[in-house]
Amino acid sequence: MKKSLIMNEKKGSIFSVKTRDELTLKQAQQKVDEWIKTYGVRYFSELTNMAILAEEVGEVARIISREFGEQSFKGKEKNKKLSDELSDVLFVLICLANQTGVDLSDAFQKNIEKKIKRDKDRHKKNKKLK
Ligand SMILES: [Mg+2]
Repeated sequence: MKKSLIMNEKKGSIFSVKTRDELTLKQAQQKVDEWIKTYGVRYFSELTNMAILAEEVGEVARIISREFGEQSFKGKEKNKKLSDELSDVLFVLICLANQTGVDLSDAFQKNIEKKIKRDKDRHKKNKKLK
């Protein structure tokens, strides 16, 4: 696992180790929480974060429409990275999970189990996908 120090003064905290290979959902939730408490003062309200989530999803849509759709990039837009915008979406989504008490690891596993039961054969039987 590749690790590097990113902040000496925060050594020992979740910020001290930059884990590029693996990050569990629980670690991501802890990392966002520590970032908010260290740099963000406090969480924005749920309503504000919902608006920010919509804004960030829009930024993802803008890139997708230009990279995979018919739209073209304006000058500086070419530097916008899909990975960075998807991470912005994930960050604010994690904020919403943290401030509403959602354990994303547990919730996501339950969600996948639900999808397995519900859609076991659904997509396999969809002739449009063949
Ligand atoms: Mg963004």
